[in-house]
Amino acid sequence: MEREEVEIVCSSCGARGVRVGPLGTCQTCGGILTAEYDNPEARDHKGVFEGEGIWRYSSLLPIRPKSVPISLGEGGTTLLRSQRLGEILGMSKLLLKNETTNPTGCFVDRGTALEMIYARDSDYTSVACALSGNLAASVAAYGARAGMVCRAFLKSNVDLGKLYQIVAYGAKITHVTDEEEAHRAMARLGDECHPITNHSPFFLEGIKTTGLEIAEQLKWQPPDRIVISIGTGAHLAMIWRGLKELEKLGLIDASKTSMTGVQIEGCAPIVEALENREVRYNDSKISLAREIAIQHPQMTDRAIAAIRESDGTATAVGEKDMVEAVQLLARAEGIFAEPAAAASVAGLRKLIENGFIERDERVVCVITGTGLKEPIASQKALRKFAGAQRIARRMERRIRMLDIGSTKEAILRLIGSGSDYGYGIWRKLKDDSGISISVVSVYQHLSELETAELIRKERVESSTARRKRVIYGLTSKGQKFLEQNEEAPPPR
Ligand SMILES: [Zn+2]
Repeated sequence: MEREEVEIVCSSCGARGVRVGPLGTCQTCGGILTAEYDNPEARDHKGVFEGEGIWRYSSLLPIRPKSVPISLGEGGTTLLRSQRLGEILGMSKLLLKNETTNPTGCFVDRGTALEMIYARDSDYTSVACALSGNLAASVAAYGARAGMVCRAFLKSNVDLGKLYQIVAYGAKITHVTDEEEAHRAMARLGDECHPITNHSPFFLEGIKTTGLEIAEQLKWQPPDRIVISIGTGAHLAMIWRGLKELEKLGLIDASKTSMTGVQIEGCAPIVEALENREVRYNDSKISLAREIAIQHPQMTDRAIAAIRESDGTATAVGEKDMVEAVQLLARAEGIFAEPAAAASVAGLRKLIENGFIERDERVVCVITGTGLKEPIASQKALRKFAGAQRIARRMERRIRMLDIGSTKEAILRLIGSGSDYGYGIWRKLKDDSGISISVVSVYQHLSELETAELIRKERVESSTARRKRVIYGLTSKGQKFLEQNEEAPPPR
C-alpha cells in the first residue's frame, strides 16, 4: 500500500474502503472507522519533525503528500509550566496544555482541519455537523476556509458563544429538538454532503497530535500523567494512541504515562463502566458543560482500553467544582477555560485530595477549550461582583435596545411625533413609511415596546359608542432612546 492510498477501515466488522455513514460510522455495522495508511517515512523515522502546528506531524498522519492543507493555524499550542495553580494544589511539577488558543478556541480544530481535507479531496461540496457546539463552530470555520457549505443541526441548549461563531462563519443552521431528529436530518442529506462527527476517522487522527506535541515539548520524556476531560472519550484515546505510535518509533517509553479522564456527575458512563457500576444518567443535574455530557460516548471502549492499559483512572466532578476550577485557572494562571475544559483541573484537584495522585508526579493537565463561548458559568461568577454585574445588566439592556428592529423603531418615531392608537399607527406605517404588516403584528410590537418600557398607554378614547381606542405615548426612556438613535443627517 502506497502512502497515496489512505483507506477507511471499520474497526468492528473489518470492512475496507468503507464510505462514511451519516453518523460518521460504518454504514454496515455502525462501528468506529479508522483511516489506515502505510507511511514509508514513519517506518524508519528519526524523530525529526518540521513545520508548524499539526502539520509538523504530517508524516504520522493520513495525508497524501500532494494534498494542500486547509489550515487556520491549528495545533502548536503552548505547554505552560504552572506558576501558581500547582502551588495551590500542592503540586511541584504541574504543566498545562493550553488548547484554548486554537483558531476557534478549542482542540477540535486539530481534527476538523484533517477531516476537511478528506472532504475536499473526495469532492464533497458540503459538510454537516450535529449537536456538539465546539465541533459545529469548528466545522463552520473550516468549511468557510475551504469554501464549502456547512450545515449545522443544533439543539436549543447550544452554548451562546458557540452559536454566535456558527452564525458568523455562515453555516446553514437547522434547529432540532433532540439527537434522533438530528440523526434523521443527517441521514437525509445527499451524497454530496460529508458528515463530520467527533469520532470521524480523519478527525480522530488529527486530535492525536495533542499527544505527539506534548511528548515533543517535553523532549521525548513523557509525563507521569495526562489529565483531560472526556466527552466521547476520543481525545483521551487518541492522545494515548499518539504516545503508542511514538513508542513504536523508539522515541518514547509510553508506559511512563497514565491516562486520566474526568467526566461530570450525572453523566459519567466511562467512570461507571471502569468501576463496573451501573450507568446512571441524570439530565436534571446537568446545566453546564453539555459539551462533555454525553450519555452514550462513541469511544467508550477505546477510552477504557487506554485508561486500563496506561494504568490510569477516571473520576467525575460536580458543577460547583467546575465553576471553581474555571475561576482558579483564570486567576492563578491567566487561562480562561469553559467549564467542560476546566473539569480536568477539578478532577486533578479531587484526585490529589483523595491521595490518588502523588504530589510530586509530573502531570500535564489539558485545557481543551475557551471560556468565552460559555456564558452561564461566567454569569454565575458575576454574582460576586456588584459593579461588574451592573455593567453586564446595562450592556444586556443595550443589546435588547439595539435589537429593537426597524419596524419597532418606526412605530416609536410615529408615537414620538404625536400620541397615537394601534389602527392609526398601522395606517401611517403603510402610507408614510412603506411598512406593510398586519394589524395584529402592530399590536404585538406595541405590547413588546410596552414591556420594554419604551411606550405606555396614555389614555382610552371612545371612537364610537361601542369601540374604545388606546392612545400610546412615549415614556422618558422611549424619548431618550429616540434621541440617542437620531437618524444620521444625509451625506452632503
Ligand atoms: Zn463495520
